[in-house]
Amino acid sequence: MIRQGDLSLIIKTAEKSEVEICGFLFGKREGENASVEIVSFITNRLDSPNAFEMEPLEMVRAIDDAEARGLQVVGIFHSHLKCPPRPSGHDLKGMNLWPVVWLIVDDRGNYGAYVLEGDKIREVEVKLV
Ligand SMILES: [Zn+2]
Repeated sequence: MIRQGDLSLIIKTAEKSEVEICGFLFGKREGENASVEIVSFITNRLDSPNAFEMEPLEMVRAIDDAEARGLQVVGIFHSHLKCPPRPSGHDLKGMNLWPVVWLIVDDRGNYGAYVLEGDKIREVEVKLV
């Protein structure tokens, strides 16, 4: 569950950016469902149009801030430029390290959310509120 405005902000930022954008979705998890309360943009330290790596210091700060507010990492978002919003081979490795929902947007307003279950990728529904 993510606010329409938060998703729009991610998509608009991705559309304007010449490199992949990335960050955390902080919120609460209830069983199968997660609700996003804060979208936190993190600098892509690779500054690349076809890969991302979050700046570690910013990651730590964002996680500390969110935890202080009783929120946890429920998702990771990033963008793809000129290719569909589906996990790449590189993303798969990241999904192994961070077993949360992976929200991917492209630079044309498309998006998808995925989780890794064992070695299979499953698309999950993005509920807008
Ligand atoms: Zn990717």
